[in-house]
Amino acid sequence: SKYTVVDQETCIACGACGAAAPEIFDYNDEGVAFVILDENEGTAEVAEGLFDDLDDAVEGCPTDSIKVETSPFKVLVD
Ligand code: SF4
Repeated sequence: SKYTVVDQETCIACGACGAAAPEIFDYNDEGVAFVILDENEGTAEVAEGLFDDLDDAVEGCPTDSIKVETSPFKVLVD
């Protein structure tokens, strides 16, 4: 299983991840990325068919802001 979340503290709103994986990543009003699947909580399992896109996004992120784990992330508290 894979779960993903964007570290919005380090994301520089470059737009690469949404191009690589448009079904996983979108951007807020400031262009900062978030995971569409679960509002960037990292608790929704990424479908296997999206693993290649996810890998591309991780590799293409210039700030290493896309985190991937094999179990759900703890919900980030704002
Ligand atoms: Fe942010 Fe990385 Fe996505 Fe660029 S590729 S928008 S830095 S998460």
